[in-house]
Amino acid sequence: MPRLLLTCLLSLCWLAADAHADWVQAQWNVMGTRATLEFWPGEQDSRDTVALIQAEFDRINGQYSPWREGSELYRVNHTATHTSVTLSEEFAQLIETSRYYTTLTDGAFDISFASVGHLYDYRAGIAPDDDTLAHARDGVGMDKVTLDEQRRLRLHHPATRIDLGGIAKGYAIDRAVAILRQAGVRHAYVSLGGDSYVLGDRRGRAWQVGIRHPRLEEAVAISLPLADIAVSTSGDYERFFIRDGEHVHHILSPASGKPAGELVSVTVLAERGIDADALSTSLFVLGREQGLALANRLPGISAILIDRHGEVFYSDDLMAP
Ligand code: ADP
Ligand code: MG
Repeated sequence: MPRLLLTCLLSLCWLAADAHADWVQAQWNVMGTRATLEFWPGEQDSRDTVALIQAEFDRINGQYSPWREGSELYRVNHTATHTSVTLSEEFAQLIETSRYYTTLTDGAFDISFASVGHLYDYRAGIAPDDDTLAHARDGVGMDKVTLDEQRRLRLHHPATRIDLGGIAKGYAIDRAVAILRQAGVRHAYVSLGGDSYVLGDRRGRAWQVGIRHPRLEEAVAISLPLADIAVSTSGDYERFFIRDGEHVHHILSPASGKPAGELVSVTVLAERGIDADALSTSLFVLGREQGLALANRLPGISAILIDRHGEVFYSDDLMAP
């Protein structure tokens, strides 16, 4: 067969295969939120790719859920005040990354916020009274969480507990992106509630990532055309109840043990999901001035903040020159 014809046939074949390929889409509930996955098939069977990501999210949830009795985190919270608990390498790494953010934010991000956090029940509309809060606050502080070279963890106050809710979903997103890359996928969107990553573009156009309107459900406040970046939004509307007209919500100031009140939504763009997630929670607690100052100081980090009056603030790199 002439070489030219063979080439034509091969490319026709490729075109036909491409015409049959389509975006793979999946949605399911995990880690107390909604997972969304959309990708253009890579080299692996797409069903296997979806199954691997689902299994990885289940694993992370099973290991770090504060409520599951068998989880590594549960074991820490229920035994590490009297005896040391040897952690998996991954858990130890997550704690050290969390500690890095505690130092960076002067304590605004602190996984030991859970010492007070477990006293809130958003579904039942319960918040601790001031006396209970004052006592539990003594447990907050990463100086009360030690990890030695053998990865043995101790909690040094009877009220101390930890929770990875401010960082685990971003980490899970990074794991999903690694699985997608391994499968040869080059165009994808993956999200877990407010934490997401866009891999490549949407085959010729940018992915549009929407920041939810903080007060109008289903409405998008800002839409961003993006590629190859992690996007995390922390909002006071994710888990909350309303008391005296105020949102009593799940992002707590470790200093007061109460919900951080100045901002209603913070979106952070970063190379990795874990950083975007930790920083969106951090900036939310820090508030507009300190939050923006931190975002502007960090290379490769962009931020969009919405305050309680609906005013929007951008980090310097997003402002028109
Ligand atoms: P979402 O879960 O809505 O994506 P965020 O990334 O904003 O949320 O993180 C909120 C979660 O982070 C809370 O549900 C809680 O588990 C945890 N958290 C709350 N306050 C803090 C804090 N000051 N430092 C670290 N983690 C926190
Ligand atoms: Mg976060």
